[in-house]
Amino acid sequence: TRAMHDTLFLFGATGDLAQRYLFPSLLRLLGDGLLPEDFRIRALALSGHDTEAFHDILRPRLQQAMPMASQEDIASLLRRIDYRSVDLRDVDSVAAAVSDLVDRRCVSYLAIPPGLYISTCEGLAKGGALAAPARLMLEKPIGSDSESAEEIITTIGQWIDEDRVFRLDHYLGKAAVQNLIALRFGNTLLEAVWNRNYIESVHILVAESEGVDGRDAYYARSGALRDMVQSHILQLLCMVAMEPPASLEADRIRDEKVKVLRALRPLDAKHAARDSVRGRYTAGSINGQPAQAYQPPEGSDVETFAGVTAHIDNWRWSGVPFHLVTGKRLPERTTRVVVTLKPVTHWLFERPQRAQAAPNRLVFQLQPQENIELGLMSSLAGPEWGALELQPLELELSVPTGLHRRIAYERLFLDAFNGNHTLFVRDDEVRAAWAWIDSVADAWKAANLPLEPYPAGQWGPANAVDFLPQGVDAPDSGASE
Ligand code: NAP
Repeated sequence: TRAMHDTLFLFGATGDLAQRYLFPSLLRLLGDGLLPEDFRIRALALSGHDTEAFHDILRPRLQQAMPMASQEDIASLLRRIDYRSVDLRDVDSVAAAVSDLVDRRCVSYLAIPPGLYISTCEGLAKGGALAAPARLMLEKPIGSDSESAEEIITTIGQWIDEDRVFRLDHYLGKAAVQNLIALRFGNTLLEAVWNRNYIESVHILVAESEGVDGRDAYYARSGALRDMVQSHILQLLCMVAMEPPASLEADRIRDEKVKVLRALRPLDAKHAARDSVRGRYTAGSINGQPAQAYQPPEGSDVETFAGVTAHIDNWRWSGVPFHLVTGKRLPERTTRVVVTLKPVTHWLFERPQRAQAAPNRLVFQLQPQENIELGLMSSLAGPEWGALELQPLELELSVPTGLHRRIAYERLFLDAFNGNHTLFVRDDEVRAAWAWIDSVADAWKAANLPLEPYPAGQWGPANAVDFLPQGVDAPDSGASE
């Protein structure tokens, strides 16, 4: 589909996200002819570069991120980009930095610390860049708790209508998440068992091997729960747990997601120690490389590992635990959703085999590769006649997509330019997600839940084992260095 909006104001253009993902995505869209002829980008950040100096920074980053891209495409993208230095705390400067282009159909993308969202939007509104049909793309997180999220949503809501705001959670742009919808609602097979009668548990794991940069002021205030569970993990939970929407229209899907979030049982301080765990990594090693302990700034009490068992209080999911886990400096980078079915009710095969019987599992892996596997029990192939021997069989369910796979941000840019909200988070979803996260944070505080140390390179603290899906190694209990 050809994008309709023709001007992008990209705030935070020198930042990690913009350089690593956003500009490379725009390069691919341009190379594939998916951007309008006269598409242009104004890159904005605090640093005092001129356009040429900015191109010199961006060019090698593009080459590094997209080694297959042609020099012509890179030159063509750079020709469309001009750079402005602006301090986003100063409303008038923001207005001045966009005002010469506001007569075009513009989209503003805020890839900046969320503390700057309000002043930036006030400047955009003043400069005319939020008036219809302009659009606004906002990165996660929206605030750091219910109160700050509410302030961002309502303040920005004075300047732009909800139907022109696109809040990103780039996990929603991943092919495996689309595939989850296709598999759930395009088949009779899965939806028939997709409930408390057949499903034993659901695990959602977002593991990172990277650590926290000691200077990362944002992380020192947020921690694993607010950084990862509130956004990516709850979004994945919604996709797994929502009722079938009446149609694939964006708001019908988002209606179902918000119902799931509202059905999450708040964590009670009484159950905090049973239903959750928080940890922080100490020194250790990953792949043989030594890794230092996380030293947050004075006064910060944040966790780098969070595990919470969520309960969805509705008819479909009553009694099914959803184990939500995330951590930094874990042995590998992997994101997966594991749906485990109940064991068979009556065992027909030889008794000793029962121990080897694996329950059926559907595994959606989002990182490092996207793929989907269904674990079944099958009979061992062999010519001899004798007792039926069972063995686990992993069925690969993903459709091969070839080399030219779209990265999530490409899809999200196109959808925002075309006005499709399906993969973006609505204001009521943000509110409901924070309401539950606040209940967890409050329960941790009230119960004084200890921050358990774990050595970098292990799967979290020793008591995290109950929250992890099978197939990731149990933490090596006792090791605390
Ligand atoms: P970052 O590397 O710290 O970049 C921050 C950007 O904001 C830089 O371009 C910086 O400009 C600019 N900035 C900071 N203060 C400013 C000011 N007063 N005026 C003008 N510009 C200012 O951050 P990031 O990792 O790219 O993340 C940006 C946003 O995306 C955050 O909200 C983050 O949560 C979200 N996000 C990031 C990722 C990721 O993979 N990095 C993933 C998902 C979401 P200078 O460089 O010129 O100072």
